[in-house]
Amino acid sequence: AYVVTEACIDVQDRSCMEECPVDCIYPGDRMMYIHPDECVDCGKCMPACPSDAIHWEYKVPAEQAAFVEANAVTVRSN
Ligand code: SF4
Repeated sequence: AYVVTEACIDVQDRSCMEECPVDCIYPGDRMMYIHPDECVDCGKCMPACPSDAIHWEYKVPAEQAAFVEANAVTVRSN
């Protein structure tokens, strides 16, 4: 799955939502989150993000690693 990371916080541009073919990107309190079970790994959201906040889960920068779990936990609890 793709993952939204720190650069989205307080930005929430939402261009990613318009690109996602399965509507698996959800707005949270301060950032967007991608549902890992619904994401089909198409990659369309990544170039749409003006903040470069979206990464493929296996290429998330090390310092952003906590966001992999944060995306999953947040969307599954909603
Ligand atoms: Fe949606 Fe594709 Fe991005 Fe997954 S990779 S969140 S399916 S646009």
